[in-house]
Amino acid sequence: MTFIRTVLSLTLLAGLANPAAAQFGIIEQGAKRAKQVSDFNWSDEEKAALGAKVSTLVRQRYGVVQDTAVHKYVTLVGRTVTDKSTKPGLPWTFIVLDTDAVNAFAAPHGYVHITRGALALMKDEAELAGVLAHEIIHVTEEHTIDALKKNTIKSAAAEEVAGGNAMIEFLANAAYNNILDNAYSRGDESAADTMGITLISKAGYAPQALGNFLTTLAERNKSATEKRGLFSSHPEMEARQGKLGAAIIKGKLSGTQLVSERFKTTIRYKPVPQSQIATVEAGTKGLAGGSSQKGSTAKDSKSTSTAKAEAPAEAPKKKGFGLGRLVSGGGSETKSAQVVGSGGARGLDPEKDAKGGSNPAVVAVKFTPAELQAFKKAGSLT
Ligand SMILES: [Zn+2]
Repeated sequence: MTFIRTVLSLTLLAGLANPAAAQFGIIEQGAKRAKQVSDFNWSDEEKAALGAKVSTLVRQRYGVVQDTAVHKYVTLVGRTVTDKSTKPGLPWTFIVLDTDAVNAFAAPHGYVHITRGALALMKDEAELAGVLAHEIIHVTEEHTIDALKKNTIKSAAAEEVAGGNAMIEFLANAAYNNILDNAYSRGDESAADTMGITLISKAGYAPQALGNFLTTLAERNKSATEKRGLFSSHPEMEARQGKLGAAIIKGKLSGTQLVSERFKTTIRYKPVPQSQIATVEAGTKGLAGGSSQKGSTAKDSKSTSTAKAEAPAEAPKKKGFGLGRLVSGGGSETKSAQVVGSGGARGLDPEKDAKGGSNPAVVAVKFTPAELQAFKKAGSLT
């Protein structure tokens, strides 16, 4: 199959063929291969390698805003939050993606990506902290790796997967597709929300900020979804807001800071209505495969994206509960059915399939611990 060739060629090209692979051998039964994935033991080095590869794929897909001031600001906010997390010492990297789409993605070992389209919708720093915190929890609780193991079992069962570095190559591609599809479990999404607002409240931010952002997001998508004939009500959103409100009461979360002034000074992007987001054409360079089961790379996108467009009735794994899924009309199953109904639509998701910038380079950010402390103090944060 195509993907086996992709894995093998990547492995060979990168000189990653590993003697350790031999000890895994070629396992002939699918169940054993699935177990091989689920039992894969991760060292910190392997998690770091996986996160770096996934981040590279995300950055190649959407590009990176080449603005040092924006990256420094987002990183200072992110580090204010991670300092309250269970893993303050991870090599946290905050990346602003160059696209109008509204989304955020976590990758293992400290990579947090947020789109400038998401920044454009936010009113204050607390909302930014809330969305970053949601992704930070996906990292610290290793939801990224859990989703990978769970969602990759089926494909691993159907493919031949070697061990060591070849396994990481295989999983990096799968993880990339997972995060674009927001393939976390509902429970992990809910945990990311409630644990995330607990984190920002500890830092001094108002925990209501995440819910405020989600409200703005739902409003922003309302007209677009009605225009497309999708359901105008979002029961998932109501349930999510209800859980956020309950967590604030139960946890006695008492943060109060919104910090809007310096946010507005630094973040000056203008939101683009969902219906006006430019999308990449199916099959063009940079459009990632739509299915985590296929595990395609960006270069291998044509077949999978075409397949998705032609076979919208194929049941998705599950409805996501994150930023992108939440706002696109109640899950891809619903959306797919209605895309069929609308006739003219090309089956593209305006958020996931949005056009991105062309420069994938990470923007280096430097600041001293004293600078971070001063940043917190200026925002009345801790
Ligand atoms: Zn999430």
